[in-house]
Amino acid sequence: MFYACRWLLPIDRPPIEHAWLETAHGVIRRLGEGPPPAPAENLGDVVVMPGLVNAHTHLELSWMAGQVAPAASLVAWIRAMLTLRRSGAPGGQAREAQAVGEALASMHASGTVLVGDISNSLMTPALMARAGMGGVVFHELIGFDVIDPVSVVSDAIGRLGIVHGQIDRAVPLVRLSLAAHAPYSVAPSLFREIAARVPDGPLSVHLAESADELAFLRTGRGPMRDLLDDLGSWTPAWSAPGGGPVEYLAQQGYLRRGLLAVHGVHLADDDLWRLREAGATLVTCPRSNLWVGAGMPRIPHFYAAGLPVAIGTDSLASVDSLSLFDELAELRRIAPDVTAAALLASATRVGAEALGFGQTHGTIAAGKTAALLAVDIPAGVRDVEEYLVSGVPSSAVRHLS
Ligand SMILES: [Zn+2]
Repeated sequence: MFYACRWLLPIDRPPIEHAWLETAHGVIRRLGEGPPPAPAENLGDVVVMPGLVNAHTHLELSWMAGQVAPAASLVAWIRAMLTLRRSGAPGGQAREAQAVGEALASMHASGTVLVGDISNSLMTPALMARAGMGGVVFHELIGFDVIDPVSVVSDAIGRLGIVHGQIDRAVPLVRLSLAAHAPYSVAPSLFREIAARVPDGPLSVHLAESADELAFLRTGRGPMRDLLDDLGSWTPAWSAPGGGPVEYLAQQGYLRRGLLAVHGVHLADDDLWRLREAGATLVTCPRSNLWVGAGMPRIPHFYAAGLPVAIGTDSLASVDSLSLFDELAELRRIAPDVTAAALLASATRVGAEALGFGQTHGTIAAGKTAALLAVDIPAGVRDVEEYLVSGVPSSAVRHLS
């Protein structure tokens, strides 16, 4: 199958104007510039680009859309979210599953082909498989006062085994892993056990999302401690390590290649360098950071540190859409000096590599999966990369296959 298009954006090289592409059985065969070498379907004034990768969301919270108001601090937002979560969705699990299905449909419509999903309930892998959405579901563990971390992780791995058996074998794109929620909600022993039981492949953690987390690690006090007290989760067995969040992960053996460090709003430059040295990826979710009162992520510093930066939307409890194009527009607004090419690489190649799909997704290259988008380009647009980070509506996006 040959396609001709006005623009082709391979990601690992500059946009090609007047390009062609050959695919066969869902795989990219070759691409080039100028007239196609065989009769081709002419896609017209579009840019053909890799499908987008949303490296961090919580699909199971989709039923909360619009119900957790923007907050002045992360702890205030968490308290409101937990109150709503305890009440459950009106309509129960059926309504929650319906909301996940709607969220997956909207993600597909806005060009997403892979997701890094955080799940406590494990309702999402089967729903992703049914929707044809690939990615990694990180079964997230929370527990600050944990007595037997070995059995907590063994039980979680047992649940993953059951879910694995339920996923449609025809959709091998949904993979499973574990994640620790955050340093203020997970015991050091639980971090260590997860790291030991997931020796390679992607891992995830919410890291340095708020300044209160840093204060808690430094002093053991503040709003995070108050939250643990109120939840009945505090344990005097824990004492403040005194250092920063990246050092804290390193102490638990959790800082390693394949780690997705999500948010990093309050990481200093030396923390960013240390993540890079470890082979970790930073996943930034700027719209969510502003919604929950976590602060403004230091986007230019993330890129300047040479750290791989992927992009997530976080959940519908803290953003009003799961569109990566909307997230890219926010990144462009708050980081006007980061190149559009770098932002687009974050939304495709870097996310795919972070989730372990770098061999098949993230760029347009011979041998990779043809999970591609054709995005309408308005007449007169000369800088297609800038256009793609300006807030592309879903109505302009279609999947090539
Ligand atoms: Zn999150």
